[in-house]
Amino acid sequence: MIKLGILGGGQLGLFIAESALKLNKEIEIHVYDTNEFAPAKDVANCFYYGSFTDRDKLTDFFSNVDIVTYEFENIDNSILPLLDEVNCPQGSLALETMQNRTMEKEWINKLPGVQTVPYQSTNDEIEITYPYIIKTNTEGYDGKGQFLIRRDEDLEKYLKPNMVLEKYLENIEEYSVLIARSKNGDIKTYPLLNNIHINQILYTSKFSNLSEKLTNKMVDKAKQIVESLDYYGVLCVEYFVSEGEVYVNEVAPRVHNSGHITMDAANVSQFELHVRALLGMELPNIEIDESLAMINVLGHQMKAVEELKEIPGQFYDYGKKSYKRDRKVGHINISIDNLNYIKGVLNK
Ligand code: ADP
Ligand code: MG
Repeated sequence: MIKLGILGGGQLGLFIAESALKLNKEIEIHVYDTNEFAPAKDVANCFYYGSFTDRDKLTDFFSNVDIVTYEFENIDNSILPLLDEVNCPQGSLALETMQNRTMEKEWINKLPGVQTVPYQSTNDEIEITYPYIIKTNTEGYDGKGQFLIRRDEDLEKYLKPNMVLEKYLENIEEYSVLIARSKNGDIKTYPLLNNIHINQILYTSKFSNLSEKLTNKMVDKAKQIVESLDYYGVLCVEYFVSEGEVYVNEVAPRVHNSGHITMDAANVSQFELHVRALLGMELPNIEIDESLAMINVLGHQMKAVEELKEIPGQFYDYGKKSYKRDRKVGHINISIDNLNYIKGVLNK
């Protein structure tokens, strides 16, 4: 029996757990979360309800499992040293670096190849010209803690110390590379994904037809990143393309929302690939069906989905206890031909 411990029991933890149980009947799932009603609770053999600063509870959790994986970055860095003492194939370096935007950007720009958008600290004299975006260093997600600054009045309203300030790129295209590195040495990437965001929240993902030249730049950078972090598991690199130039936006050292499309559009989902990588199993060659797209369902759109007699695609309900506005509560993998129809339903 292998005991897999998952730090974080949101939808990502839920899908990791489901994949692990499907892949290997000899796996026992332990989930740790700060939310008593975390989506992954129902599939866990053992659920731990506690904070990410509770050393005693975390130590107990770690002592009960053989392998540890994390499904989100905002784990208090006081517990990072504990991760070094257990079998955590993703490692603590990825988490430590990527949970802080300044550290993340500095680290990415030290590697050769694609760089980040120009940035600086809000503590220094501002040298970057309007428009720019200021972001909290830690704990941001779905655009939370970010403010677009176009003029002096915006700056007076939103500027705070210790934030990251970066050039705002108009009319960007967004892409992501999902890469897996197994303990057995295999490395595999999914074909490049093209992502559309609305209000800084991921809206749709589909496989891209970007030029080979730019695609290769992104894939090469993702390979460098997993190797330099000595990271095992699935990792996602988000990119911007603006005026023919590629930039790294950010790195998520975990499975990623844009990869949900692989649950139906690939022979192996990102969640199964992640578990295979953690266990040191072979990573199969990836085959995809490019005719599918993924669309997120937010809390205020859930009613429209529930009212549908039939959903023309595969709907994944995260089982959240409340449907908050702008919070992700599910996603639909759907034929690109039906995408406009479902967009109309969600946005009515
Ligand atoms: P989060 O951690 O919330 O995902 P991101 O930095 O990825 O934060 O920003 C969320 C979204 O906001 C991006 O996917 C993009 O659509 C938009 N965005 C962020 N930074 C920039 C930028 N410098 N220029 C243009 N758009 C940006
Ligand atoms: Mg992002």
